[in-house]
Amino acid sequence: MGLVVQKYGGTSVADPDRIRAVADHVARTRRGGDDVVVVVSAMGKTTDDLIRLAHDVARHPGGREMDMLLTSGERISMALVCMAVEDLGVPAISFTGSQAGIVTDTAHGRAKILEVRADRIRQALAEGKVAIVAGFQGVSTDRDITTLGRGGSDTTAVALAAALGADVCEIYTDVEGVYSADPRVVPEARKLAHVSFDEMLEMAATGGRVLALRSVEFARNYGVPVHVRSSFTWAPGTWVTEEDPSMEQAIISGVTHDASEAKITIEQVPDRPGIAGRMFRELADAGINVDMIVQNVSTAGHTDISFTLPRDDVARAGAVMEKIVVETEASGFRTDDRIGRVSLVGAGMKTNPGVAARMFEALAAEGINIEMISTSTIRISCVVHEDDVERAVRALHRAFGLEEAAP
Ligand code: ADP
Ligand code: ASP
Ligand code: MG
Repeated sequence: MGLVVQKYGGTSVADPDRIRAVADHVARTRRGGDDVVVVVSAMGKTTDDLIRLAHDVARHPGGREMDMLLTSGERISMALVCMAVEDLGVPAISFTGSQAGIVTDTAHGRAKILEVRADRIRQALAEGKVAIVAGFQGVSTDRDITTLGRGGSDTTAVALAAALGADVCEIYTDVEGVYSADPRVVPEARKLAHVSFDEMLEMAATGGRVLALRSVEFARNYGVPVHVRSSFTWAPGTWVTEEDPSMEQAIISGVTHDASEAKITIEQVPDRPGIAGRMFRELADAGINVDMIVQNVSTAGHTDISFTLPRDDVARAGAVMEKIVVETEASGFRTDDRIGRVSLVGAGMKTNPGVAARMFEALAAEGINIEMISTSTIRISCVVHEDDVERAVRALHRAFGLEEAAP
């Protein structure tokens, strides 16, 4: 007998039929002898609807009250799934994030889990119950309710799996696993049987939203095997685990894309020591997550510096940049939110030269201009115009032969 954590995303619990299907699977797993902890997301598009509602009543909703509002979505699902499981004759009990012992820092909207005090869950399991936990939320060290950022229920699930020493964390969603590209953009994308933690980290960080980035960090740090699979077909999905050294590594595992970023360029800034330090310090202190950075060759003692950041942070970054332009005597700054990023991820890249060249050639053949480039040992990313993103993903998927092998 083992312990399984099962997380169900929004589409998996979108309506009463889906909730009953999920409850049935939970009940079967429990009857099979395993202890089961269930983590649920808000039903369907509830979170988006609640965010819209907040913007209908206030100009700048956020912080504590936004978290109070958004956590109600997961609370609805947890109670409904719990009722449905009990209706099948399996004892169950639901918990909010706070009751489940998810302790976070105080950063509303993007709180980090500091500790998991899972005593109540352990006790429920010891009493033979299924524990059903509201994902995406916790309680801060100041005793306020917090949320973990979009997609945060994945993080709740993996954190609980780590704290409870679960055998596996199953992430149930609306696709059959992790694919070689978003199947909505590339219909012939291939389901990957296995992805390493490192590859999944790069994929999650560059737009492969099937798993939230923080959940992959937790899984890697605590060695939690994650199984991403479908709650519609229940077919075996993708295992995300430590790299298997006996297996040959694919050069490229996947192509990801992300159209949620913007680019800011500070123009004609004096090229002298300390300027970049000052600029990025101020942005960091304002809580802005800067991603790619490119500094151009300087001419006549002046240079341009561009960086990318989440679009949601552009307004706040603009305020910081206005100050920096004055302080550094730069000529000004420009914002471009019509950009997107395409990335190639693959562990085999480390030992195979020429991947970057092939990537740039494939984009060139499509007439797609590259605005910025960044790399890690197992990833290459290019910033392109927003309108070119999906075409770029399909071109790269084709160029690297990632499509489903013909039967
Ligand atoms: P959930 O509500 O279950 O958490 P999400 O919408 O967060 O579901 O994540 C699942 C979606 O992720 C899929 O519907 C798919 O469109 C998208 N996706 C993006 N990239 C990938 C990928 N490489 N493999 C699988 N799905 C992906
Ligand atoms: N409901 C939250 C969201 O939509 C959390 C999640 O689904 O994981 O982002
Ligand atoms: Mg998700």
